[in-house]
Amino acid sequence: SEGSKSYKYLVLGGGNAAGYVARALVEKGVDKSEAAIVSREEVAPYERPALSKAFLFADPPARLPGFHTCVGGGGDRQAPEWYEENGIDLNLNEEIVVADLNGKKIKSKSGAEFGFEKLIVATGCAPIKLSKLEGADLKGIHYLRENADALELYDSLHAHKGEEVLIVGGGYIGMEVAAAAAIVGCKPKLIFPEEHMMSRLFFPAMAKKYEAFYKEKGVEILKDGYLCEGFAGDGEGNLAGVKVAKDGKQEVIPGKLCVIGVGARPNAQLFSDQLETELGGIKVNGKFESSVKDVYAIGDVASFPLKKYNRMTRMEHVAHARQSAAHAVDALFDSATADYDYLPYFYSRVFDLSWQFFGDSVGEPVLIGDIPKMSAFWIENGQVNGVFVEGPTAEDTETMRAIASKRPTVDVDELSALSDPDEALKL
Ligand code: FAD
Repeated sequence: SEGSKSYKYLVLGGGNAAGYVARALVEKGVDKSEAAIVSREEVAPYERPALSKAFLFADPPARLPGFHTCVGGGGDRQAPEWYEENGIDLNLNEEIVVADLNGKKIKSKSGAEFGFEKLIVATGCAPIKLSKLEGADLKGIHYLRENADALELYDSLHAHKGEEVLIVGGGYIGMEVAAAAAIVGCKPKLIFPEEHMMSRLFFPAMAKKYEAFYKEKGVEILKDGYLCEGFAGDGEGNLAGVKVAKDGKQEVIPGKLCVIGVGARPNAQLFSDQLETELGGIKVNGKFESSVKDVYAIGDVASFPLKKYNRMTRMEHVAHARQSAAHAVDALFDSATADYDYLPYFYSRVFDLSWQFFGDSVGEPVLIGDIPKMSAFWIENGQVNGVFVEGPTAEDTETMRAIASKRPTVDVDELSALSDPDEALKL
């Protein structure tokens, strides 16, 4: 019937990972209308990291179709025409609200039904909302995940030039949005309860360098106990400030615009009674197979075995979205495909800085150099687990990848005594 379609390969979600699945399926030579994407978003898959970067501050700003997948991974730019030309159905503006995995079909809010032989779940994450806090519905409070959110945030930032922008959360969203707000000409205040920014990766000595840099760029940092407890209104439904508590004392930080970046949760609820979960995500094996036959999960929503470190993990990073997509498609077509062996890689760009990290941030940290060039190492029992470089060259990137893969043994005292970040990379 009109409202019912069926596919051999159905991808649920139209984000970063979905775009790379489409590319891999086309490379395998799928037939016309054998494969489809179903997405809640109104646009074809794109490189999500752009939303907190050039999208917000560049002149002219990055806009679709400029950053559709797979430009970030060095592939074709898959604008909607690409899907049409390659015979992959793009079902946009369709939010899936029912999943019947045994019956092999999913249903959307609008009533459309999509059958499948193989389902690849790529639903990503949703921002954690502070919706239980007082004043959470006030106008002027933003979250950032999708193209539509970023368009609204862009307009708000540009409408509040010269004014305070309150950013709640000191992770990468907070850091990137604070940098964008400063570049646009707003007065950003970065508010978070931890002792320093990027507390999941940075260690105190490293965070100190970035915090000093941020202050120089005009970003005020309210940290170490500054917990957001609610939002103050102006009496007309608009935000007037963020309520914080610091050492038991309450205060209101005034501002009409607030961006919240306090983490994300995997979109796995749809399947919670049908699929095994772990670490909040859909549990998969090294071939991205879930606990139900013919159902796969990739990208942010998947909890997978991190072979190198012999533990389960979930990664909210674009490199994993891309690589898991390609690997899952390989496994779909060839059951002899080896298990996924991922080397964790993170990056961020703020102001004119850019950093990269490879490996595992476990062990004693050692920092060498200063912004604009520094290197850092995480060392456990003399072995390097993780390596970080601010301002890496293309060659450094390859060196870092090799170090994190080989995990060489080093003398911590000798390494700590170095002052040249490049010298330190010659491990
Ligand atoms: P997503 O790209 O989030 O895609 C999920 C898709 O599923 C979306 O289209 C969503 O609408 C759809 N969906 C969900 N539920 C349903 C449903 N029920 N029905 C229909 N559709 C549904 N990573 C980095 O490594 N470096 C960075 O610098 C970086 N910057 C980032 C900046 C921002 C602002 C954000 C939000 C993320 C950033 N990331 C970054 C993380 C990176 O974007 C994610 O890891 C990546 O997008 C994950 O891909 P995914 O396909 O798993 O999920």
